[in-house]
Amino acid sequence: APEPPPERITIEGAMSVQELASLLRHSEAEIIKILFFKGIAATINQTLEVETIELVANELGITVETASHSAEAAKVTEMLESSDLDHLQRRPPVVTIMGHVDHGKTSLLDAIRNAKVAQGEAGGITQHIGAYHVDVEQNGEKHQIVFLDTPGHEAFTAMRARGARVTDIAVLVVAADDGVQPQTIEAISHAKAAKVPIIVAINKIDKESAQPDRVKQELTEFGLVPEEWGGETIMVPVSALQQQNLDTLLEMILLVAEVEDLYANPDRPAKGTVIEAHLDRARGPVATLLVQNGTLRVGDILVAGACFGKVRAMIDDRGQRVETASPSFAVEVLGLAEVPAAGDEFEVFSDEKSARAIAEERAAAQRQSRLAQAATARRVSLTSLS
Ligand code: GDP
Ligand code: MG
Repeated sequence: APEPPPERITIEGAMSVQELASLLRHSEAEIIKILFFKGIAATINQTLEVETIELVANELGITVETASHSAEAAKVTEMLESSDLDHLQRRPPVVTIMGHVDHGKTSLLDAIRNAKVAQGEAGGITQHIGAYHVDVEQNGEKHQIVFLDTPGHEAFTAMRARGARVTDIAVLVVAADDGVQPQTIEAISHAKAAKVPIIVAINKIDKESAQPDRVKQELTEFGLVPEEWGGETIMVPVSALQQQNLDTLLEMILLVAEVEDLYANPDRPAKGTVIEAHLDRARGPVATLLVQNGTLRVGDILVAGACFGKVRAMIDDRGQRVETASPSFAVEVLGLAEVPAAGDEFEVFSDEKSARAIAEERAAAQRQSRLAQAATARRVSLTSLS
């Protein structure tokens, strides 16, 4: 029997009547007939624009998703399930700062944190857990932004290699006195590959030698054209050193977040990604978990990578013990039996027995693949010896 027509299709752009017909699983004649009744005369090889495709599909009761939406949907479905769709609530954006060495990534993270967190914070002690959040008031409304603050590039490379998607927005730092450099280009291509929107922070504008317009000019060569030149990329001149224009940068992040439709379902068990983890001599395995869906609670049973755990305590980025962590927030978690790897996904389970079983299964699989790798390596070294 022929397959029934789909409920929805995903398209990247224009396509021919023929291609559309096969995608919609209707005959070409039917497509042409629908077009005809819409007042559009079409032939089989004619190219149809997205709007026309939507017209036809809607007539057949089929939903059309364009690629940009479907990229978003893909990002979402990694962590969201269909049962979440009735409980979606906006979540704060998770932001990563990228850029060439010495262009001011650490300084910018620190400047934002100092400007937004240290002051007025009870105790004032900030905890470095690999992520922190700031509160930003905009039009009388309180918003939050979560910054990932992973030390070194390794954790990130590892996460990217595993395909873990933890970033909603990338802030690309480019020093105004140094311009586009190799790691700037690398960061742009990473963000583009992951379809993560980029906001450019042109840093060090306090310097005599700063040439922000030259930086903009250079960036256009990599497809980042500033809004004031008719492009779509938001570029904010800042000085991390002198804390200049940081509020504008935060506003722009919220603006982009607004467009990105960032949602999660807080009313379900948590799911997310390990941002970093280490073994603490006094506290045992300590992992910073970024909650990407659901709410994480003390007492939860979870599996992170191949590690089993029961959340004994959670500490937020301000050093406070907390009972819960909601979507987009990161917390340091105590109670894992082992140290997971950065980039591992974690998930809460309702039943301890199955959680332990899953963790053990994964650990066994990891041992197997390590053994296999070691065997291959041995064979290779033997071959090269002979
Ligand atoms: P990273 O390697 O990208 O993390 O860069 P850092 O934050 O470590 O900064 C590199 C150097 O640039 C340090 O000496 C900072 O003090 C300096 N720097 C960072 N931001 C600014 C700025 O806005 N203005 C000036 N003049 N120097 C800055
Ligand atoms: Mg740094």
